[in-house]
Amino acid sequence: MKISLIIPCYNEETNVEPFYNECERVFCKSGYELEYVFVNDGSVDGTAKNLKKLCRENNSNFRVISFARNFGKEAAIYAGLSNATGNYTCIIDADLQQRPEYALEMAGILDKDPDTDCVGAYPEKRKEFFVKAILKNCFYKLINMVSDTPFKHGVSDFRMFRENVKNAVLQMGEYHRFSKGIFAWIGFECKYIPYKVMKRENGKTKWSFIKLCKYAINGITDYSAKPLYISSWLGAIFTAGSLIYYIIALILYILNKELSPEALIIATVFFVGGMILGCMGIIGAYLVKMYFQVKKRPIYIAKEIIEKEKN
Ligand code: UDP
Ligand code: MG
Repeated sequence: MKISLIIPCYNEETNVEPFYNECERVFCKSGYELEYVFVNDGSVDGTAKNLKKLCRENNSNFRVISFARNFGKEAAIYAGLSNATGNYTCIIDADLQQRPEYALEMAGILDKDPDTDCVGAYPEKRKEFFVKAILKNCFYKLINMVSDTPFKHGVSDFRMFRENVKNAVLQMGEYHRFSKGIFAWIGFECKYIPYKVMKRENGKTKWSFIKLCKYAINGITDYSAKPLYISSWLGAIFTAGSLIYYIIALILYILNKELSPEALIIATVFFVGGMILGCMGIIGAYLVKMYFQVKKRPIYIAKEIIEKEKN
């Protein structure tokens, strides 16, 4: 039984070797054969060099896909899936925050239960800045409210699945990828296990606050068209509201109360104008997606692929 580990790497020069050593240690007596699919996502540090060294000095199945630039983790996952040949495929981070022991546990679950197609992992408890934790919570509440696809709270990209799931994910050729949504959308029988998120040993997280916000907006607009309808409803409500507002202003004016019609008009213009701009923004978010999809740009561009089979 062969397991392909898909490892997206962006500036992980200090992590790739410890990651490999830990996987070898954990899986050495398991009876599984490992295939390492490292995706070097346009790293600007020594990741490429260290990956080549790893391939040279060790006897394992290696595939190293190096991107021409940084295309993002989602593109790296797609490239990894396209190059994986194992019976099971596992997406795992390079920084050892997701321990390979859990990957072994996932493989055991798939072995035991032929009806389970995918095993996902959700973090037990993660030490995070509380604002980040609250925002994540809001994100899952919001996406479940507006999307027809149910999203399991907090489930990470760390998961292992059979070939049928891999092929289904590869059929989804969308440019703006959101793996959590893709896995939720394709269905299949999925089990979830908790995992303890370890501290990042080396390097630092690649997810800034802005990057996370973009990711969340992308996720919502990818899996729900409801914000488009919300904007239309809001538009209708506010237009009706401003009409009522005008009528009241007119009546007050006729009755000669102390109310300046100019101020009212200016307020209304700003109010309606702001609303229109907001709605246009939402429509714009969807248009951008169509724009990129219509262009049919490749999800990633690889400049080099190294393949080495275990002898
Ligand atoms: N990653 C990537 N491309 C990016 C950002 C991140 O391939 O543009 C990889 C990164 O090298 C790591 C994984 O995605 O293996 C998760 O990233 P990180 O550890 O920064 O995320 P966090 O654990 O903080 O959520
Ligand atoms: Mg990490």
